[in-house]
Amino acid sequence: MAQRVTGLFFKTQQMKKKVNFTRPTPQVFNEGSAKTDNSQKKLWRQYKAQKCISGKITVAALRDYAAHLVHEGFNSTLCYISAAVSMEAQGGNLETAHFDRLYKNLRRSIAAVLARRMMIAKKAPPLGRMHLSVLSGRQREIAIVLCALGLRKDTVLAIKRKQVFLKVKGTTLVGAQLSVRQDKTNKLRTVHLDCTCNGRKEKDHVFCPVHEPKDLAKVFPITEAELTGTATSCETSTHGFRRTHCLASRIRYEAEKNSAIAEACRIRQGWSSNSPEYFKYSMDVAQYTLGDLLVCHREG
Ligand SMILES: [Zn+2]
Repeated sequence: MAQRVTGLFFKTQQMKKKVNFTRPTPQVFNEGSAKTDNSQKKLWRQYKAQKCISGKITVAALRDYAAHLVHEGFNSTLCYISAAVSMEAQGGNLETAHFDRLYKNLRRSIAAVLARRMMIAKKAPPLGRMHLSVLSGRQREIAIVLCALGLRKDTVLAIKRKQVFLKVKGTTLVGAQLSVRQDKTNKLRTVHLDCTCNGRKEKDHVFCPVHEPKDLAKVFPITEAELTGTATSCETSTHGFRRTHCLASRIRYEAEKNSAIAEACRIRQGWSSNSPEYFKYSMDVAQYTLGDLLVCHREG
């Protein structure tokens, strides 16, 4: 992903050199409802303030904004860019030199980056029980905890030890509360890890994210090398943990038709309520059973 984002920046530099000074009227694209449009414009205003952007808005500035959005995981980056362009056009604030051509190219490259990313994410193989035998002890605990969490890679890598609070009942460890970065913002949100073994000893069958690790308090921080190494050992990419989490949820959802199951998964994955991503991420659900996946397949 980092390389693709760099690619966006690189193109900016090339395009700057080619700009000449004819000034056609920019073509303005608009999409989405008034409400989402307002929140999209708000984000652009915040970004401009943060980056101290003033004066005429160039396609290069929009490209940097798009790279930022893509990096932050906005699948609707094109809508956000449209909202920014619409807002600046209304204020007569667009740098008009060759705008239409450069803007069209920008939209095309954003669409290509997003399409590639979506394809990679949705095709990542889930982590399966068959991989257990090749994992080290540390990799095993990372795999089980991350499949249970379903968080984005960046969010996982930012979790520090002091953000993990153990939950103890009497003298028994029953779970943990994690304070993690809310996707696309600098705020924190709370996610829970709960024991799935409930005192049972057959840990091979329950993959308890609380009791599989030797010491849950010390699982985090997880380094990028550990995360990538675990994914590679399980023959998948770093999207594999989220895919496993989503597939496991979808299998339960299909069996029980309980919308609370889908909703809980959407919250963990950082998707909005009713987001279609839930179904897109798990469209090959029929190929798997809970018994295949590296997650708990029993109710606690
Ligand atoms: Zn447990």
